[in-house]
Amino acid sequence: MPDLFDRAQALELERAEKINAQPKTPKASLTQCQECGIAMPHERIKMGGAVYCIDCQEEHEFIAACKARNGGKHEA
Ligand SMILES: [Zn+2]
Repeated sequence: MPDLFDRAQALELERAEKINAQPKTPKASLTQCQECGIAMPHERIKMGGAVYCIDCQEEHEFIAACKARNGGKHEA
């Protein structure tokens, strides 16, 4: 079945390209916090890939940590 083999190979190639397409360098930061909309601090913009301001980032990390502790459950 050469056709099927070619297809599988093409899919594999496509997948590899998608993985390679993912940026190795950090994405550009937003200039405003996605959560509260305040101007992004310059230090965070320079860091690259910043989406939230420091406060919102901390809150998100805190929530993520809580979720991880609770095994993904929402109850506190
Ligand atoms: Zn914010």
